[in-house]
Amino acid sequence: MDGSLHRQPASPLIDRFGREIRYLRLSVTDRCDLRCVYCMAERPDFLPRSELLTLEELSAIGRHFIARGVTKIRITGGEPLVRRDVIDLIEALGQHVGEGLDELTLTTNATQLAPHAERLARAGVRRINVSLDSLDAHRYARLTRGGSLETCLAGIAAARDAGIAIKINAVALKGENEAELPDLIAWAHGQGFDATLIEVMPLGEVGQDRADQFLPLSAVRDDLITRWTLTDLPDRTGGPSRYVRVEETGGRLGFITPLTSNFCAGCNRVRLTCTGELYTCLGHEGAIDLKSAFRQSGPAGLEACLEAAMATKPERHNFDVSRGAAPSVSRNMARTGG
Ligand code: SAM
Ligand code: SF4
Repeated sequence: MDGSLHRQPASPLIDRFGREIRYLRLSVTDRCDLRCVYCMAERPDFLPRSELLTLEELSAIGRHFIARGVTKIRITGGEPLVRRDVIDLIEALGQHVGEGLDELTLTTNATQLAPHAERLARAGVRRINVSLDSLDAHRYARLTRGGSLETCLAGIAAARDAGIAIKINAVALKGENEAELPDLIAWAHGQGFDATLIEVMPLGEVGQDRADQFLPLSAVRDDLITRWTLTDLPDRTGGPSRYVRVEETGGRLGFITPLTSNFCAGCNRVRLTCTGELYTCLGHEGAIDLKSAFRQSGPAGLEACLEAAMATKPERHNFDVSRGAAPSVSRNMARTGG
């Protein structure tokens, strides 16, 4: 793939609330080899493959975003590593690390990480997020609807051995991994990994009332401080996480709290789906058809989309996880790009 950058004036992307957009989440597929109970239905309808952006298109679009001041790209999905040849895209974008791009990273469930870890590291991926909600093999299989904890842990070990820094992401789930969270955090810290807890968001139908899944992280934090000393850290990684140091483990712990503490004022990101829809907010329905614009008008079409995106990015989401509430948006996280 062509690694050259579109050379054009790099005026940064700034929305109508003055927020600079420096972060692109690039989804390469909505498909996944797992079926996490909070993410998708047991039998999801996946998008037709014929509608996907090609890897060459994704690469060209990524380069355009870099030229417009995006400094961080996260490859995501669905499960990004189930898309055939996705490593070619990662290698192409990796050429820009240190040259416009500060960070190229990935969010993965780790099932396919073992065979890919070395190449990812060579492509310039320094850090990844791995989703892992339980260290109990039975619970892991239940939450992922059939996943193998052993495979996930083997993927994590391969990435660590390849020199990639790892952050473990766990969605906090009421009555599920609730009691296990301190052990999961202690394990991650013991391995030298960061850990982040995430509140479940009402995205798409998953066959269960979100009120039965939602566990406020304010309550988790209250529980953690009965065991540990948590010291607030000023660290920001370009995301919504707020970090503490767990003094007893020496590790870093993040909290992503879209429900109990809204961080939209500092939002610096947009998301592109695998079919080329540009979403400026996880919690709103409106998308911009970037694929058609790009196919019809090339870079000029992309520019028009970015202008429209900056003019319409919503101020904030309005998630509602009260009992009986409809999903805040119809699409699940795997569709938008997590
Ligand atoms: N398959 C990859 C993975 O699981 O890491 C990447 C895509 S996944 C959609 C990205 C992240 O979104 C994961 O950390 C997952 O736990 C999280 N996620 C999915 N649905 C969610 C929901 N409804 N609320 C909160 N987090 C969610
Ligand atoms: Fe797949 Fe990630 Fe969604 Fe789980 S959270 S079903 S691993 S896309």
